[in-house]
Amino acid sequence: MGLYEGIKDVAKVLQQADNVDLYLKLLELGEQALDLQAEIAKLKEENRELKKARNLDERIVRHSKPYLTLEDELPEIHYCATCWGKEGHLIQMTILDENSPYGKSAYCHNCSIHFKL
Ligand SMILES: [Zn+2]
Repeated sequence: MGLYEGIKDVAKVLQQADNVDLYLKLLELGEQALDLQAEIAKLKEENRELKKARNLDERIVRHSKPYLTLEDELPEIHYCATCWGKEGHLIQMTILDENSPYGKSAYCHNCSIHFKL
């Protein structure tokens, strides 16, 4: 039996017994129980998001230049270490090859950091 159904059943008994005080108290407790259920659902969602972030954090490989890669990601993608540090978002960097005017380098469109690779 679910919480809501249980409360409804007890409320029906109290209503039939004509016990207004207990009936009102039960309604108040029922409301609190439903609030707690909503809070639990919210916390479960937050927990799921934190686990996801932790799993991502464990896959991050740092390099001497300010970019990150993810373990086991193929092809290897360069992410901006500055944006990850400031915002917690993985922003894919543009890789310019050696024939570009800047030589082989990486550029972040989000924070505009640019460095030679
Ligand atoms: Zn960036």
